[in-house]
Amino acid sequence: MTPITARYAQRPTPRYTSYPTAPHFEADFPEATYRGWLGALDPDTPVSLYLHVPFCRQMCWYCGCNMKLVKREGPLEQYVETLLQEIRLVRDALPAQMKVAHLHLGGGTPTALTPDQMGRVMAAIRENFDLLPDAELAIESDPRTLTDQMVAELAKLGFNRASFGVQEFDPKVQETINRVQPPEMVANAVETFRRHGIEAINFDLIYGLPYQDVEKLLTTIRHVADMAPDRIALFGYAHVPWVAKNQRMIPEEALPDAAARADQAARAAEAIVAAGYEVIGIDHFARPGDSLAKAAKNGALHRNFQGYTNDASETMIGLGATSIGRTPWGFVQNNPETGAWTRAIRVGQLPVHKGLTFSGDDKLRGAVIERIMCDGHADIDAIGQRFGQSPAWWHDTKSDLEGMERDGLLTLTRNGVTLTEEGRILARVVASAFDAYLASSKARHSVAL
Ligand code: SF4
Repeated sequence: MTPITARYAQRPTPRYTSYPTAPHFEADFPEATYRGWLGALDPDTPVSLYLHVPFCRQMCWYCGCNMKLVKREGPLEQYVETLLQEIRLVRDALPAQMKVAHLHLGGGTPTALTPDQMGRVMAAIRENFDLLPDAELAIESDPRTLTDQMVAELAKLGFNRASFGVQEFDPKVQETINRVQPPEMVANAVETFRRHGIEAINFDLIYGLPYQDVEKLLTTIRHVADMAPDRIALFGYAHVPWVAKNQRMIPEEALPDAAARADQAARAAEAIVAAGYEVIGIDHFARPGDSLAKAAKNGALHRNFQGYTNDASETMIGLGATSIGRTPWGFVQNNPETGAWTRAIRVGQLPVHKGLTFSGDDKLRGAVIERIMCDGHADIDAIGQRFGQSPAWWHDTKSDLEGMERDGLLTLTRNGVTLTEEGRILARVVASAFDAYLASSKARHSVAL
């Protein structure tokens, strides 16, 4: 890593899983606005669903998600009952029984539900939505608590993709982050899914964890390659203890410094590619022939709150506390407090907490940022034309971009911008040149690499 890249790597930058980013959503967003958006959806265009289960059986110290520890079954059952009501409430606000091409269950740990609870949730989804025969039904899973009975139920319910937070296999790192799951445990979970016919497997790995080094990461990747997941995501650990209080359990003196993090990111990416994976965007990898790899080749890659996706739908309906949804007119986020979320649903209100109505400028900049993050280049003039802008619209970003060009991150062309090989992993930094909110933002972001 060059000194210049090291400097950019330390720059706090959003991950751009949305634009505008979540810290800019407005509080107390009107329920009536969201209800109006749902009612105005085109009944013939498929939507995507995201369903959030914010419960886990054990707390990982590195976690940055909205989750609650659950020791008793009561809160889970109450949550499921409310979720069933929310599904019906949303259906009543829609113009028709909408077709669904993608469903993602995330958390927390969705497999913290019992097989019976999972069955009831999926029955409500199927009663109120029209899951297309080739729909992708994906679920996040925790190998430490997974049972054969649950996987059999998921297969029966039509799930066809499972993802695992693998992170790192080194025992000392696992102990320090409070997530002990030896390779055999994960291999066994993968084998269970495959035995039940759920073949598509995603792994998440993390670099920059306490006591982690390149050797440990490469050993982890060797184990991962043996298990042959279809997709791998490689994220940098985001140490934000001012947001995620549990991260105070992470010994800061054991965290690798910026240069070590960048080295880990680069060496891990090389090893994953050497194991036969193609690079997708800035931090994903997929086997050749995987639908994500095909989308990346065809310029059909997208970015949403789950990361890179081949899901092209403009609408994602969020269900469950915290979940974020998107419509053609803006973003909405459900209340993250399960109590407030429950109370709203009990009185027949959509449990909207925050939201943002897109301006024309938001959509334009969002389109540029998505192409930079997905393709590593953007024809900015052509995107501007689509939104009725003159070719000069982005010239106020030119001095920033020219500085990055001098530093070797990108090449400016007459119509747009193309990232260099070194700039590709810093796509977040280049994308931030188009972020109209960042300069006045009070949000504290994680470092770019
Ligand atoms: S990392 Fe995943 S399993 Fe661990 S506490 Fe967070 S949501 Fe739960």
